[in-house]
Amino acid sequence: MSKLQGGCMCGAVRWTSDGAVTRNLSCHCSDCQRATSSPFTTFIGLVPETVKWTGEITHYESSKGTHRGFCPKCGTRLYFKSESWPGEVHIHAATLDDPNAYIPDAHVVLRSKLPWLHLNDDIPKYQNFEATPEDIIKE
Ligand SMILES: [Zn+2]
Ligand SMILES: [Zn+2]
Repeated sequence: MSKLQGGCMCGAVRWTSDGAVTRNLSCHCSDCQRATSSPFTTFIGLVPETVKWTGEITHYESSKGTHRGFCPKCGTRLYFKSESWPGEVHIHAATLDDPNAYIPDAHVVLRSKLPWLHLNDDIPKYQNFEATPEDIIKE
C-alpha cells in the first residue's frame, strides 16, 4: 500500500498513513448527512495506529461513543471514530491530497439515501452496513 496523505482546507491539520485500508465506503446515514452538510460522504477505513496526525482536532460526539473529528480553524470534517468499532478510523476521503485516487468499494446505509439521488455506478449497495467490524478486522 502506498502512502496516503491528506489534510483539512486550511492546512492546520495533516494526516498520513502507510497502513492497509480496511474498506472504502460511501455512507448515506442521516448522521453523516448532517455532519457533513452533504447528501452522503465517502470514507477510507484505516487502523488508527497506522495514522499519524498533526494539528489540533476538535471532536463532536454525534451519538454515544461515536466521535467526529474536525479542524477547529476551518471546520473541515476529518473522520468518524466509534467505540463500537475500535479497530478502525474512517477518514473522509475528500481530505486526501489526491481525492481522484479514491474509489469507494460500496454504498452503505442506503435506507436513508435521499430520494433525488440516483446512483448509476455498479459497486455493491447495502441498506445497512455491509459487514460488522468483527467481519472486517480479522488480524
Ligand atoms: Zn483546517
Ligand atoms: Zn454514516
